[in-house]
Amino acid sequence: MATILPSPPKVGMVSLGCPKALVDSERILTKLRSDGYQLSPDYEQADVVLVNTCGFLDSAKEESLAAIGEAIAENGRVIVTGCMGREAELIRARFPQVLAITGAAQYEDVVGAVHQAAPMPPSAYLNLVPDSGLKLTPRHYSYLKISEGCNHRCSFCIIPSIRGDLVSRRPDAILREAEKLVAAGTKELLVISQDTSAYGIDVKHASWPWKGGEVRAHMTDLARELGKLGAWVRLHYVYPYPHVDRVIPLMAEGLVLPYLDIPFQHAAPSVLKAMKRPANEAKVLERIRGWREICPDIAIRSTFVVGFPGETEADFEYLLQWLDEARLDRVGAFRFEPVQGAAANSLPGAVPEEVKEERYTRLMECTAAISTAKLAAKVGGTLDVIIDVADGEGGATGRSQADAPEIDGEVHLRDAFVKEGDIISVLIEDADEHDLFGVPVAA
Ligand code: SF4
Repeated sequence: MATILPSPPKVGMVSLGCPKALVDSERILTKLRSDGYQLSPDYEQADVVLVNTCGFLDSAKEESLAAIGEAIAENGRVIVTGCMGREAELIRARFPQVLAITGAAQYEDVVGAVHQAAPMPPSAYLNLVPDSGLKLTPRHYSYLKISEGCNHRCSFCIIPSIRGDLVSRRPDAILREAEKLVAAGTKELLVISQDTSAYGIDVKHASWPWKGGEVRAHMTDLARELGKLGAWVRLHYVYPYPHVDRVIPLMAEGLVLPYLDIPFQHAAPSVLKAMKRPANEAKVLERIRGWREICPDIAIRSTFVVGFPGETEADFEYLLQWLDEARLDRVGAFRFEPVQGAAANSLPGAVPEEVKEERYTRLMECTAAISTAKLAAKVGGTLDVIIDVADGEGGATGRSQADAPEIDGEVHLRDAFVKEGDIISVLIEDADEHDLFGVPVAA
């Protein structure tokens, strides 16, 4: 019996401008083709037409506007991209019917706009890559990258020199990706970036249309919308800027997991200053207390560096004292290592290796004691647990809302006839330094 394939949508392209714009057009078409779209040689057959514009000279702008006008007259369904994307208002004033406008090299945005304007029919033959993309994580959890690069210049870090300054993704593109992941079976979205709290600063927290309304490129707005998708939403790499306080009520409401991954790195003011850490303010302990008042279940995980150049014994004692008061739920630690190209390498006061080692051990002992006490307090209670591994014979391992995959603790289960990705209620029977042990609560 013959298989009748649905026809994929056809995309027309008008490419103007310099060779760089031409290469952009090629990249866009390559991606669309790999997504299953066909290319149309004329306006007539195209389901949507892309006009890649040039805005270098006034004459080039006029040519671009004329090309947009022609595409609208001939086809009517037009997406504008390229250098003139910076002048969206001018384009909209002349051609209000344009479907979307994106800037130069914004490949993801323009491809997203085509998917929205001319969606691909679902077919295993057309969509070689699933809608949710190819993943290296298990099906039930997915990392969601919301931005690239970083505007800070921490003295031990070379990421800004490798990845450049902050470039935020459009919130609607992030939300569309998240929706596809959830539709494909993701139960937990792990929001990542270099600095999640800085999300949207580079685009001045502009708004984009979303579901009949608007969504701002801002951490709290994005977190709220992600929370509506029905999956666990976990925020990583958050710096304690003042606006982080506004995300805590979303945790209390259950929209976002009560979990914050904040890489504090140190607590002593002189070390933080030498590290050039962002949002490095003295009142963090007070803020943490305030967060716990609003959301008593909040789990805070962090990482710290010991043996940073210039760290004195008094600085280290300050850090231990701070940890004792902060009572963080999960802590990772590193001994300072010079990274080639990092500004910190030339700071005075290198800490001898054996001192680093000794401080590392003391820090881990301090935080293990806190973790042990906090986990022991959970024994006898029930927690929601997402299953990562199930052996089919009653043994299973999962994580509570306080545990991110790979970096935090686990919940080991007995008599658990469950499958990976299930979220179940578990009675906690025992605890050690880092992990919990329990049994599913009978339905
Ligand atoms: S360590 Fe500092 S500079 Fe490096 S990515 Fe994080 S915030 Fe940016």
